[in-house]
This record gives sequence, C-alpha cells and structure tokens, in this order.
Amino acid sequence: METSHEDKLDLIKKYYREFFRDAVKNRWLEVPEDIKHREIGYGYLKKVDNRNLSFNSQGEYLNWVLDRSPFHLYKSLAYMRYPSSVGGAQKKGLFRREIAFDIDVHKLKRCTHRDQGWLCRHCLEEGKKQVFILIDEFLIPDFGLSKRDLKIVFSGNRGYHIYIKPRDEDIRDTIEHWSREERRYFIEYILGKNLSLSSVGSGWKRRILKAIKNRRLLAQLERSSNWRRILERLREKERKRIVSIIEKVKNRLELDEKVMEDDIRLLRVIGSLHGYTGFMVKEIKYNSLEHFDPLRDGIYPKFNREYYNVKIKERIDPLRIGDNLYTYRSKEVPVSVILYLFGHGVDFEILD
Ligand SMILES: [Zn+2]
Repeated sequence: METSHEDKLDLIKKYYREFFRDAVKNRWLEVPEDIKHREIGYGYLKKVDNRNLSFNSQGEYLNWVLDRSPFHLYKSLAYMRYPSSVGGAQKKGLFRREIAFDIDVHKLKRCTHRDQGWLCRHCLEEGKKQVFILIDEFLIPDFGLSKRDLKIVFSGNRGYHIYIKPRDEDIRDTIEHWSREERRYFIEYILGKNLSLSSVGSGWKRRILKAIKNRRLLAQLERSSNWRRILERLREKERKRIVSIIEKVKNRLELDEKVMEDDIRLLRVIGSLHGYTGFMVKEIKYNSLEHFDPLRDGIYPKFNREYYNVKIKERIDPLRIGDNLYTYRSKEVPVSVILYLFGHGVDFEILD
C-alpha cells in the first residue's frame, strides 16, 4: 500500500507533537521574555503560514504550542504594544528590540552534494567558522563584549543565530533601544561596508593586517591609517593583490542583514524544531561550539531510536546522521531521516 501525503503528514505531526510535549515539560522551549509584548509566527509546509499572534501569558503560549506543534515556530525580536496588529513597526507600537545576527551559509565549492539545500559537514563547518569570526574578531575585541554577553543558537539548518544579551542592564537597555538606522550602521561596520581606506580604524586594521604577509608593506600599513596613499605608491599588480586581500577579509561573513535591520523581523524560537530538517534550534555554549556536530548533536535523540522501512523514490544526495550514512538505497531509516526527507520534499514511501 502506498502511503498518501496525508498519512505521512500525520506521522510527521505526531513526532513534532511528541517533541514539543518533551520540550515544554522539560522547559527547554524558549518562552520569549515579556511574552505579552511579543509577536508569534508559525508554519507547517511554508516557513511562515501565519503571524501576528500574541499571548497574554506564558501558560497560554505554551498551551498553544502544545496544541499546534508547528514545524516552524518564530518570535519577534521586537517588543511591541500591539503585537497582533497587522502592519509595520508603527502600527504594532514597537518600543524595544533584541539584537541578533543570523549567519546563513550557502553551498560551498567543496560541498559534496549537488542539491543547494542539502547539508554536509563542509557547509556546517563553515557556519561554525563564521560564528567564531563574528565573536572573536568583532564582537569581543571591537565592542568590548564577553562570551557571557552572547547567546549562540544553531538555527536547525545551515546557520547560527547570535544574540547580544549584555549582562550589564544599562548596556542592554541602550542597544535594545537602537533605531533601525543604528542597527543598520552596526551591521554595515561588521560587513566592512563603510570601511574607508583613507582612514582605517583599529579594528579593521588588525583584521586585515593579519592576512598580509609582505613584511615591509605590513610595517608601513601598521604605522598609518591612510592606506590609500600607501597603496597608490605600489605597483599596479601588487596594489591589486592587496586590494583583493582586503576584499576577502571583508567578505568572510554571510550575514542576513534583514535580521539585524527589519523592525518586525521574526526569528526561530530556541528549543523548537526546524521544519526543513527536523533538527533542533539549539543553544550552544561558546566553549562547546568547537565540538558541536549539528548532524549528531542537533538531532533530538529520541528521533534516532525508532526506525521505519522506506522506499526512497528519487536519487538524493547522501545524508549523514551521527555515524550512519543514508542514501537513496537505504531501506530502514530512523525518524530523524524521515523528518529530513519530508522537510526537503523528497519523494519517498513508508512501508508497513
Ligand atoms: Zn555542504
């Protein structure tokens, strides 16, 4: 007997429901701070089917999550007087907003998959590398933040969310009242968009000099902040080489600028599941990030205990979960793989 799309959907829903039951019971599901003033959005087959929801209390929100168990679950970064109003920041009465970065890595040259949306250890490693660049080369040295002022969250797919949560209440108050323009300026600094070679600041100087090997030139660049004048004196070939090194250093981060800028942007609820992969949206402590393996540690352990007989009807890229490699020839797969295949729209059948 062929499994219908509805049967499959029911099965997937059952596992999401089970997950949320555990997440609420064991309190790992994020309850957005000051829940009354936050907007909630959710989706099943699309990322966001619906938004502009709000709840009066923690209990009301958690009961709703248990009841709906969505495949995608979001909260607004903003705090608003009227979170369920439809419209922009003004209609919603925005009065405060969390500061968060979204690192979203694309398929790399060294990736082993053909499908753009697939995952492998290379793109997942790249995401992690970018988290370290953002934290160790920007947020800590240039902005005086410490590891304890940051919250790192695996997005459940090919990226990470980095929240700035200063322990110092005054600093937190200040940055969470930044205007859209101030947030824009902040992310543009990190992306090197307003970097001027006629006056290079100390942060960018430090980052770029690390990538330059020519010792004589290095000494000159170190002494001056007007790099334009120094570069003008170089031979054309050398100048082009240096300019391309600078560009490369500037372009190491793939940040979704909208997540920083947009007033009413939604971001995934920590402790929920990502509907495309079935992986957890999971907080990772800075000190465990190096050894965090999303294809192992991003998966809800219960989803690797139960197996189904399947027939995968298209040639998919291989998928590694933990120590196991699954291919289109696999006949028996755990729930984690079922959720991933379903989320990726793969044509497969569940056999009795
Ligand atoms: Zn890859």
